[in-house]
Amino acid sequence: MTSQETVDHKYVYDFAEGNRDLKDLLGGKGANLAEMTNLGLPVPPGFTITTEACQAYLATGREPDGLAGQIEAHLESLERGMGRRLGDPHDPLLVSVRSGAKFSMPGMMETVLNVGLNDRSVVGLAAQAGGNERFAWDSYRRLIQMFGKTVCEVPGEEFEHALDEAKRARGTTSDLDLDADDLRGLVGAYKKIFLKHTGRDFPQEPREQLDLAIRAVFESWNAERAVLYRRQERIPADLGTAVNVVAMVFGNLGPDSGTGVAFTRDPASGAQGIYGDYLANAQGEDVVAGIRNTVPLQDLERLDKRSYDELLDIMARLEGHYRDLCDIEFTIERGKLWMLQTRVGKRTAAAAFVIAGQLVDEGLIDLDEALHRVNGAQLAQLMFPRFQLDHDFEPVARGVGASPGAASGKVVFTSARAVELAAEGEAVILVRRETNPDDLNGMIAARGILTSRGGKTSHAAVVARGMGKTCVSGADEIDVNVPAKRFTVAGQTVHEGDVVSIDGTTGKVYLGEVPVTPSEVVRYFEGTLDPHEADDALVKAVHRIMTHADAARRLAVRANADTGADAARARRFGAQGIGLCRTEHMFLGDRRELVERLILARTDTERADALAALLPLQRDDFVEIFREMDGLPVTVRLIDPPLHEFLPPLEQLAVDVAVAQERGEDVAKEEALLAAVRRMHEENPMLGLRGVRLGLVIPGLFAMQVRAIAEAAVRVTRDGGSACPEIMVPLVGAVQELETVRAEAEKIIAEVVGDSGVEVLIGTMIEVPRAALTAGQIAEAAQFFSFGTNDLTQMGWGFSRDDVEGAFFWRYLELGIFGISPFESIDRDGVGRLVRIAAEEGRAARPGLKLGVCGEHGGDPESVHFFHSVGLDYVSCSPFRVPVARLEAGRAAVETVGSDSR
Ligand code: PEP
Ligand code: MG
Repeated sequence: MTSQETVDHKYVYDFAEGNRDLKDLLGGKGANLAEMTNLGLPVPPGFTITTEACQAYLATGREPDGLAGQIEAHLESLERGMGRRLGDPHDPLLVSVRSGAKFSMPGMMETVLNVGLNDRSVVGLAAQAGGNERFAWDSYRRLIQMFGKTVCEVPGEEFEHALDEAKRARGTTSDLDLDADDLRGLVGAYKKIFLKHTGRDFPQEPREQLDLAIRAVFESWNAERAVLYRRQERIPADLGTAVNVVAMVFGNLGPDSGTGVAFTRDPASGAQGIYGDYLANAQGEDVVAGIRNTVPLQDLERLDKRSYDELLDIMARLEGHYRDLCDIEFTIERGKLWMLQTRVGKRTAAAAFVIAGQLVDEGLIDLDEALHRVNGAQLAQLMFPRFQLDHDFEPVARGVGASPGAASGKVVFTSARAVELAAEGEAVILVRRETNPDDLNGMIAARGILTSRGGKTSHAAVVARGMGKTCVSGADEIDVNVPAKRFTVAGQTVHEGDVVSIDGTTGKVYLGEVPVTPSEVVRYFEGTLDPHEADDALVKAVHRIMTHADAARRLAVRANADTGADAARARRFGAQGIGLCRTEHMFLGDRRELVERLILARTDTERADALAALLPLQRDDFVEIFREMDGLPVTVRLIDPPLHEFLPPLEQLAVDVAVAQERGEDVAKEEALLAAVRRMHEENPMLGLRGVRLGLVIPGLFAMQVRAIAEAAVRVTRDGGSACPEIMVPLVGAVQELETVRAEAEKIIAEVVGDSGVEVLIGTMIEVPRAALTAGQIAEAAQFFSFGTNDLTQMGWGFSRDDVEGAFFWRYLELGIFGISPFESIDRDGVGRLVRIAAEEGRAARPGLKLGVCGEHGGDPESVHFFHSVGLDYVSCSPFRVPVARLEAGRAAVETVGSDSR
């Protein structure tokens, strides 16, 4: 950019200038405030500083040129509109400074309220509030507290301490009992704390307060908990946050004021109706932090009917406008309703499906859109088991079912302990009075979260729902004592390490471990629950959406399955074939002995005998699988791992031989085995004698497998079934490798198949970068390609599959080199490019070449969209992921360009 452009670049938007489509620039909150402003709803005036300004600030450590002037101009216009000046001693305008990123990150970044208050304007505020000094001093102490903590990193506990002290001095436990003098005293105490920690007085200049608060919000994008949350939620690290500067309205002006949070439908179950919490005489952060107990929103009808009716009216309008569940934050200032925020609300997985179905029924969206409103991660969650409560399990407490699921685990009381125990492989339940953003680490580590305070909109509830983690909040019979590491409930004491079970659907809490039962959604997929007869809104909604996904999708979905049982399950889950049948397990168990004979064979005859003994065993395996998959393709991969993996480990064998020799036993066989293990030892087995290389080096090995496959197919077909085998050669890097294997295989197939009508395809995995780059040549010899993205990632990045995730990926994630492990979600730019090149060049050489993927990525939602875009024919994944892949393949097919559905 030239300096002129920099100066002219627009960094600040009035609410009237934005709209909901500008989330990239204005963040979710800013874009939606603008949308509501333009709908004519009662939104306090304000402006939004763009995410671009934040990005520029974070890149250079200073505000971009032109920003200060634009803020000044917008502030002036805000002051004109309100008829008040920021921090004016007589009649002050106060503003809130609120973060708001493109994707909601509840409580992860900063907000400062009441900016503009100082020693003089506090008096003006009291006058403005009809002489309400208590309110003015309470607002001022809140500013110093939030500003100190957020902008200047003053430890929050010190303020809490001083507040507790003031309450103690007054002999109360409620903030509301503190009078104006108490609060004035508290302001004095807070200022001292501020001075002690920052070495300066609390800033009295309103504009300086504003600038520092804006800067702190920018910086909070990189706060530890925000970074962690983004990683968890897969939100890109470089988006930055917008900053909203909004004229303050006050919910703490007395009993006719208050603040609340509402949902237009139940975000937990999706049921129609209004849900929310209201807190009279309070400011917003009191509700979200779950610090004081709220009343149900319905009570507002009694407290302030006019505002209640207006709110309901607005909620209905917002739902119609956004065509979705909305969540809302509002404040009532002396009987006048103000909308502080709305957004398409986060919801549980079950609610997502149920609401999408309802909206179709209501004619607000069509089925394509419904498909877009749900995702595979949610479906996967719905497939988790639930508690099986047909035994004598009595709950000991009941709270709010804040985020569904069934979780049992050891009780812990701190985030740090949760992380520690989880790292040791323990399932833990994090128990707190209420959670705050600093608990994020522990919440991620825990199986479930239990709090004794707060409702459906408390921090714990919102964050847990976002993560898909089981949460019961507000179980107020539980008395939590964190320092003593115990809680008491119904006369019993539960210590750290004791096991509890929590049900995030019903809100019930049980002592001990409760057994679990499969989810209804799994029963539906398995065919044991008829969606038309189920009286469950969720199963009906899942059925409807899955039916549409299946009709819409272009990608077929297959499963990775190695046994008849797995194949059967995969088929029930909707698999249209097997995309990868790994044959290595067919060399394990009681067959090890035959494998040892094969490896130790000194003559061709000995080797042939060992292979002949393996042949019928393998043939039976294939018969079972082909029967289960009757009529559907089954891709069988020839043996892939290095053969020494089937022998005992070197160290163990060496010790056994030495001990046996010591005892004078006959160890000729063991010695031969030890010698073979030594001979076959490889420094880098993943890059050694495996895959197609085995087939080229060990005479008869692949031939035996090919024969077993062909014979099994013929048998199944002769028995009246239909077997469609596809033989797949692993680890091919050059067309000559494939040609050699294929020539031998074709001879055997021709001989075995005869006139049975069985057709056997021969193709290859593309899992070595060289194969991807010479795909045009390889396609000449392959009837299909299946991308082995596990090895392709390993060899594309040079990352050992077995080592790196534990060893150093944390650092790569921290540095943002990638946002998620490339073994989990396909690296589109690198490994994905190899896939794309191979797909294009393969199809150019052999039009119509069948293309699939059978690496783990086949069941990863993001990756499924990529494979759709590359034009593959199918993805193959573990049986349990098949429904997820079906759904995501459907979503990919109806996806509109540039949409996001987080
Ligand atoms: C792959 O490499 O992606 C693959 C499917 O094979 P395996 O995981 O067995 O190496
Ligand atoms: Mg592989």
